[in-house]
Amino acid sequence: MAAPAINPGVTSFLNGKPKRMLIGGEWVESVSGLTFATTNPATGEVLAQVAEGDAADIDRAVSAARKAFEDGPWGMMTAADRSSLIWKLADLIEEHTEVLATLETLDNGKPIVAARRDDVGGTVAYFRYYAGWPTKIQGDTVPVSVPDMFNYTLRQPVGVVGQIIPWNYPLMMSAWKLAPALAAGCTIVLKPAEQTPLSALLLGELIQMAGIPDGVVNIVPGYGETAGAALVSHPGVDKIAFTGSTEVGKLIMRSAAGNLKKVSLELGGKSPNIVFADADLDAAAEGAAFGIFYNMGQDCTAGSRVFVQESVYDRVASFIADFARKQKVGNGLDESTDIGPLVTQEQLDRVSNYLNIGRSEGARVLSGGERMTAGDLARGNYMSPTVFGQARNNMRISQEEIFGPVVSVIPFKDVEDVVGEANNIDYGLAAGIWTRDIGKAHRLAASIKAGTVWVNCYGPLDPGSPFGGFKQSGIGREMGFHGIELYTEVKSVWVSLA
Ligand code: ADP
Ligand code: MG
Repeated sequence: MAAPAINPGVTSFLNGKPKRMLIGGEWVESVSGLTFATTNPATGEVLAQVAEGDAADIDRAVSAARKAFEDGPWGMMTAADRSSLIWKLADLIEEHTEVLATLETLDNGKPIVAARRDDVGGTVAYFRYYAGWPTKIQGDTVPVSVPDMFNYTLRQPVGVVGQIIPWNYPLMMSAWKLAPALAAGCTIVLKPAEQTPLSALLLGELIQMAGIPDGVVNIVPGYGETAGAALVSHPGVDKIAFTGSTEVGKLIMRSAAGNLKKVSLELGGKSPNIVFADADLDAAAEGAAFGIFYNMGQDCTAGSRVFVQESVYDRVASFIADFARKQKVGNGLDESTDIGPLVTQEQLDRVSNYLNIGRSEGARVLSGGERMTAGDLARGNYMSPTVFGQARNNMRISQEEIFGPVVSVIPFKDVEDVVGEANNIDYGLAAGIWTRDIGKAHRLAASIKAGTVWVNCYGPLDPGSPFGGFKQSGIGREMGFHGIELYTEVKSVWVSLA
C-alpha cells in the first residue's frame, strides 16, 4: 500500500528546522537548546524536532504572560474587540482545516475523517461559542440590607493561567482550555503533551495571525515532569487547568497548593454504558461499540464497561464483537480507516499488558486481543479492537482505565444490580443508558454518579453543555458559563451612599 499523500501545507510547516516555542510573541529556542522528537505512530518516523521547554522556559513564558496581563493592550481591550479576535481565530482555524487535520493525524494517529470533522470542526465551534461570551460576562447588583450602601459585583479575569493538555485530542483540548480563558480576559501559558505538540504550535501561528496581542498566549512544549511540573509550581501562575490522568491530577493538586492556585481538573474515566433488554438493541449495541472504539478508545469518556442485561447479553456481546472485527485498522491518513494506531509504543505496551491481565482474570476474548503486525501495520502501534466477554465489574480490566480499544462486556440482572455496579468505581465522568422505558431512564440518570449521562446515545458534546467529573474524574466543569467561571474571580464592591 502506497503511503497516502501529505498536504503541502504540512510539509512546509514541518520544513526540517526544529519547531520553536511561542513566548511573548516570539518563536524561540529553549533556554537549554534541547529539542525532542515527535513521531508518527503509524510508521515510527520522526515528524519533527521540537524545542524542549523546562523550568527556565516556563519562567520566561510566565513573565511574558504576566506582562501581557498587567500592562499590555489585552487588559484595555473592550469586550467586543476581544470577542472579534476570538471569532477571527475560529475563522482562521476553519480555513486551515486540512493542514490542522493532517498534522493531527500524523502526530496522534487518529483517522483523518474524524480529525477534520470532530477535532478541527469541534475546535472551530468551540472558539465561536466562546467568542460570544466576552460581552456577556456581567456582575450583579445586590440588594444588601446595610443602610445607605450600594453593592455590586464585578467578574474579573483570574490572571495568568497555566494549561496542561493531553495527547488524545491535542488541538481540541487546546481549544477547550484556551477559548474560555481568552473570553474571560486571562493570559495563558499552554503546555501541549510531549507525544503530540505539533497542532498546538500551528495554532500558535494562527493566534498571531488573528492579531491576539503578544504574550496573551504562550506555548511551551516539553515533558510533564519538567515543563509541566514547573508550570504547576510556579508562584507567578494564578490558576492551573489540566486534562490528563487521575494520577497526575493528584500530583498537580498537591503541587498547586504552594501559592493556592485555583485548580480545575478533567481526569480519567471508566464509564458504564448500560444496555437494558427493552432497548432498541441494534442502536444500543452499535452505540456501545462506537462508545469504546472511537479514537481507538483513547478517550476519557470511553464507554469501557458495557453492562448488558442477562436476557440479551449474548446478542449484544456478539454484535459488538462483530463490529470490532469489521473495523478497518490502518494509517489514519487513509480516508477509509476506522481505527488508527495507538499514540505511542508505551501506550501499546500498556494496552497489551491489560489484555494479559484480562485473560488471566478469566474474561473471554470475543474478538481482537492482540497487536496487529500484518504488512505495513508492523511499523506502527496497531492494536486490534478487543472485546472481553463474561467480564465482571471487579476485574482489573473493568476497574482501571486502559485508554485503548478494549471493552469489558459485563452481564447484569436488574436495575438495582446495575446501578450498584456502575457506581462501584473510583471514576465518574460519563455514562450511557439504553432503554425504551423513560421512567427508568430518568431514574438512572439521577442515580448514576457521573458528570455526563447519555440516554439512548453515547458521546455527543456541545460547547454550551457542562462537562466534567464526579469523584476521581475531576474538579470543575468546562463548557458554557461554567467555563467562564473557571477563569474569573468575583469581586464585591461596596459604595457608601451616605
Ligand atoms: P498520559 O499518562 O496518558 O500521558 P498524563 O496525565 O501523564 O497522561 O499527561 C497529560 C499531560 O500532563 C501531558 O501534557 C503531560 O506532559 C503532563 N504531565 C505529566 N506529568 C506531569 C507532572 N508531574 N506535572 C505536570 N504535568 C504533567
Ligand atoms: Mg507524536
